[in-house]
Amino acid sequence: MTLISIEPATGQTLWTGETGDVDAAVAAARAAWSGWASKPFSVRVETMRRFANVARGKLDAFADLIARETGKPLWEARTEAEAVINKVDISVAAYADRTAQRRLEGAMGTRVAVRHKPHGVLGVLGPYNFPAHLPNGHMVPALIAGNAVVFKPSEKTPAVGEYLIGLYREAGVPEGVVGCVQGGADTGKALAGHSGLDGLLFTGSARAGLALNRQFADVPHKILALEMGGNNPIVVWDAKDLHAAAAIVVQSAYMTAGQRCTAARRLIVREGEHEALAETIVKILDRLIVDHPHATPAPYMGPVIDNDAADRLQADVLDLMGKGGRALRRLDRKVSDKPFLTPALIDVTDVEKRPDAELFGPVLQMIRVPDFDAALAEANATRYGLAASLIGGAPELYDRFWSTVRAGVINWNKPTNGAPSSAPFGGIGLSGNHRPSAYYAADYCAYPVTSSEAEAARATIGVGLADPASAAANNLEG
Ligand code: NAD
Repeated sequence: MTLISIEPATGQTLWTGETGDVDAAVAAARAAWSGWASKPFSVRVETMRRFANVARGKLDAFADLIARETGKPLWEARTEAEAVINKVDISVAAYADRTAQRRLEGAMGTRVAVRHKPHGVLGVLGPYNFPAHLPNGHMVPALIAGNAVVFKPSEKTPAVGEYLIGLYREAGVPEGVVGCVQGGADTGKALAGHSGLDGLLFTGSARAGLALNRQFADVPHKILALEMGGNNPIVVWDAKDLHAAAAIVVQSAYMTAGQRCTAARRLIVREGEHEALAETIVKILDRLIVDHPHATPAPYMGPVIDNDAADRLQADVLDLMGKGGRALRRLDRKVSDKPFLTPALIDVTDVEKRPDAELFGPVLQMIRVPDFDAALAEANATRYGLAASLIGGAPELYDRFWSTVRAGVINWNKPTNGAPSSAPFGGIGLSGNHRPSAYYAADYCAYPVTSSEAEAARATIGVGLADPASAAANNLEG
């Protein structure tokens, strides 16, 4: 099947190619992985550093391609390309920290070693919103640990996927060690279900993650790491600096045109405090530049990924309005046949049975509440559990927020998004399956092996032996 990648900002064709051969990619990886795993750790690290250097040398072209294929502003695409480079040093440190060899003293002077082994061949499925950084965030730690990787990029960003693999190739990583197979959800399913795979590292929607979880139900021996979406709350409470609070809300909800798993989706605010806050937010929204990724002056947001995504978001917002939502800023299409959307703020307090869904775009839903208990209950009114922020509030309030809210990233006076790569990153509930990524990715890329070891076999049976001179010890009648 032919895949076509369209630049969201221009509607022009950026890339065309054919669906890849999953069997061939897995076979190549199976043939290559033990050779890669048996290389000294220092050689694998050296190879990864070469990859980082190749990427550094091509930073401008790499960022340009990310901007064109995703529609995100060039300045933001550069930060993604830089994150790809920085991932190597972070993963080397994380591997040493999380999975380094340890020596313990066992009984009677026995030497006990704890070492880690790679799983073998790991599949990596990537999303479109960070088409380089997020799959790479699985690939680098997997490779450092000694696994071979078969990567399937999102069908919406095949060009960036191919480019990323090209950087590995240029750094001397052979095809079997890192392979790429292009395709859509069906190719993802085929890769996930392949008998030659030892595990799958997935970043994407909860819908696809749940399907994969079912697909892996009969193979508990295979590792499955799921990084999924969120319906993230941001609570603003007694904010002393309204402008700073509004700016943090805007950064949380609209960065990357709201196409971040950690984007704030629900703004929870005390009834009465909401007018001034909403007014301040709206003033910023009216100034946010939505434009082509390469435009001057630089835009804050580009388009969303495609017209289908824009249509779906507009339909979801219409649905909220039909159920009692009130638009403080509408989700408008700037150009009729392009997916540029204006940032929307919808008061959904009066919407009964608010859908617990991730609206993956520049839409923030505001919910007014009478007191802080209601704010906490509202923050937890989701099956997801990725990110949450409290803006304002005294330290005691933050303590309550931190201990009550269920999420893997909980911030105070900081945006919900932009978690540091040097820390673990993951969510609970529908946001993940307790395999946090980033700094803890090392944990799911290798398994621990405990070995009790001695240079020579020395052993005696100390108790329960009959005198060798006597007859059969087990003759109970005797
Ligand atoms: P998606 O789930 O549609 O696709 C992700 C990948 O999975 C793609 O490669 C796709 O082809 C493949 N896929 C889809 N359905 C599949 C199936 N049934 N079986 C096997 N493979 C399948 O996600 P997307 O729309 O590309 O990305 C956006 C989503 O990713 C959002 O929900 C966002 O919150 C989430 N996300 C999560 C994180 C995180 O770290 N938690 C980071 C970024 C994005």
